[in-house]
Amino acid sequence: MAPTENTQTTHSSSGKPAGSQASSSGTTSSGGYYKYRCKYFLSHNCNNWVYVNGSPCANCCAEGRD
Ligand SMILES: [Zn+2]
Repeated sequence: MAPTENTQTTHSSSGKPAGSQASSSGTTSSGGYYKYRCKYFLSHNCNNWVYVNGSPCANCCAEGRD
């Protein structure tokens, strides 16, 4: 996994880590949970985030990736 680690850091320019649609509860700011990159971030260039490390996002699930 070593050769791919710089791809994750350089791509954090446009996308915001926290989903904009998840701020409905009215909490202060950055929530307490941590988000992970979608399982297919590297293999399919998926930019979505998931709550469980190593899990595919809803989009990838809908596309039958896993
Ligand atoms: Zn995904």
